[in-house]
Amino acid sequence: MLLREVSYARPATVEEAVSLLGEHDGARALAGGQTLVNVMKQRAASPDVLVDLADLDELRAISVSGTTLEIGAMATLSSIMRSSEVEVSRPILAEVAATVADVQVRNRGTLGGNICVNDPTNHFPPLLVALGASMTIVSAGGERTVSAEEFFVGVFETLVGVGDLLTWISVPAAGKGTGDGMDGVTLGAHGTYVANAAASVTDGSWRIALGCVAAVPQRATGVEEALSGADVDEAVARAAVEGLGATLDPPSDVHASAEYRRSLAETSALRAILQAAERARG
Ligand SMILES: Cc1cc2nc3c(=O)[nH]c(=O)nc-3n(C[C@H](O)[C@H](O)[C@H](O)COP(=O)(O)OP(=O)(O)OC[C@H]3O[C@@H](n4cnc5c(N)ncnc54)[C@H](O)[C@@H]3O)c2cc1C
Repeated sequence: MLLREVSYARPATVEEAVSLLGEHDGARALAGGQTLVNVMKQRAASPDVLVDLADLDELRAISVSGTTLEIGAMATLSSIMRSSEVEVSRPILAEVAATVADVQVRNRGTLGGNICVNDPTNHFPPLLVALGASMTIVSAGGERTVSAEEFFVGVFETLVGVGDLLTWISVPAAGKGTGDGMDGVTLGAHGTYVANAAASVTDGSWRIALGCVAAVPQRATGVEEALSGADVDEAVARAAVEGLGATLDPPSDVHASAEYRRSLAETSALRAILQAAERARG
């Protein structure tokens, strides 16, 4: 289907982009277009103005500032895979980017777009919650920084509202004693997830987030507490995740029943925890 007629703007600066987004209620940011153009073709979204972020080179940057990895919202998944800063400070981001879809999607699709969509089956929302990331959002009213847990508010909904531009994703750099893991079941080798879990440990303190079991990533706080300070081997991890599925209320759909998703979530969490624990040991 052809796109409905839409105005197009290509700002040269973040300020100009924010001003354009704020001027029109029907304006939408265009990043890699991998999701937005498809939903426009299906007429599921009909923006009046597309504000193309392609010229905002500053938002493609990836850098380390002190103990924080700063990723511009327009950094593509391919650039995250190639980044030496990511490799040194949080390599799980590159590993996970490499498993998303195909090379065309990774070359165009941006980290900002991936999380602004907040498709519950996408790779990055649970990972960024587990890593304790934060997001910077700019609007005509100023700049605010929110935690990843606050950022995701519902299916296809985030704190990025009308007039807002997501500018930066900040991830704590991993130090000695940090280990990250992610595991799950996808639709095909590089498909979206049916269920997943991301786990991160730093000096015995855990953050675990489950994807595809609710509208937004779910922290497995009971499991985090059970693992806290423990020397985690398979027996310890199995004991910690036992019963996790029963605490969840996941959806049923054509890909998996709620019951199967509960089981997948538990198994994914176990595997992600073991991966993170092994990496933390070095
Ligand atoms: C065939 C296919 C398979 C895919 N498989 C997977 C998969 O397995 N796992 C996965 O995680 N993803 C998958 N994706 C999605 C992919 O990762 C997309 O890149 C991503 O969802 C959207 O990123 P984008 O840069 O293309 O954003 P766009 O499509 O341009 O934008 C998406 C939405 O975010 C908004 N937006 C984008 N950037 C900003 C910003 N900086 N500030 C404010 N709003 C913004 C837009 O207005 C729009 O509403 C797939 C996509 C395709 C086409």
